Amino acid sequence: MTSSMKKGIRLILLMTALFFAIGWLATTLLPGNFVPFMLNQQLKRQLAVAEKSSEILKDKESIRVYTVGTASPMPGERIQTGNAVIVNGHFFMFDVGDGIVQKAENMGLPLNRLDGIFITHWHSDHMMDLPSLISRSWLLGRTNDLHLYGPDGTDTINQAIDQFLHIENRHRVDHHGRETMDVSKARAIAHEFKNVQGGKEIIYQQDGIKITAFDVDHAPIEPAVGYAIEYKGKKVVISGDTKKNELVLEMAQNADLLLHEVILNSLLKQMEARLKEEGMIRNEKIIHDIQDYHTPPAEVAEIASRANVKRLVLHHFAPPPDFRIVKNLYKKELSEFDGEIHFANDGDEFVIK
Ligand SMILES: [Zn+2]
Ligand SMILES: [Zn+2]
Repeated sequence: MTSSMKKGIRLILLMTALFFAIGWLATTLLPGNFVPFMLNQQLKRQLAVAEKSSEILKDKESIRVYTVGTASPMPGERIQTGNAVIVNGHFFMFDVGDGIVQKAENMGLPLNRLDGIFITHWHSDHMMDLPSLISRSWLLGRTNDLHLYGPDGTDTINQAIDQFLHIENRHRVDHHGRETMDVSKARAIAHEFKNVQGGKEIIYQQDGIKITAFDVDHAPIEPAVGYAIEYKGKKVVISGDTKKNELVLEMAQNADLLLHEVILNSLLKQMEARLKEEGMIRNEKIIHDIQDYHTPPAEVAEIASRANVKRLVLHHFAPPPDFRIVKNLYKKELSEFDGEIHFANDGDEFVIK
């Protein structure tokens, strides 16, 4: 490097440092002068997000799937289970675990246009953010009805949420007035279905979209279902929490995307033994118990392969594949499926055209 090049670099570094120093000093001493600029930038970002959402909602062809949260209840950085589906102007959420609402909002998903929530079963990692989703979508300006679909328990839980949110809703109306806060939209309309045990049932059919709930095997948790979403010859199947299951296989035949839960029992068995050695009896018992009501990778791969699915997306990881070693353990056990496999992250988007 010549000395004039070195001088040039030094000058650039100096100018950059000076620029940041002046910026820091100005925003510290005179923050008020920057408010119009800051508000303008924030508004621009909001408008850009709203415009993108509106474009997505106008799309008449695709099914869009967003893995908002991909964790199981095992500890880690990931948000618990929840998936958004946008299809033909409708915005649906499938499960609403802890953290889903904030993450969905940060992803720019149009919560003020949400019109359907579908719950697979009433484990906390699938429903803890449900009151928050109902309330937040209303606060963000939802003016359409919000429908809540789920198996037995849906009516009871929805009534409990009504009671839980009653005072909060009253505060908002008292403060901002009835015209701004239409309290009739502050609650969800429950649609509890009862007939899927051992079978399947079409629970939604509108605007060319068909959603079928089907029974899965998450015993002793009853009821527990998965969902198939079909539109214009395209199909997305969400397994729900389940052991290897013949109905998932049947529903997922030729699916464009199968979103399947997964559990790495080969690792959990070693974890269980280690916890036993340490005398951590309660943790050992829980790790032992969860191994027989989820699906190990080899069986997920078998289902995906036999069902001839185009894309297999794994989520609800137990444990999360965030260490290279863990991810490679999963991969080794998935070898039977030679199609496209994705280890979903929180916030991923999949578009089926
Ligand atoms: Zn779960
Ligand atoms: Zn579960």
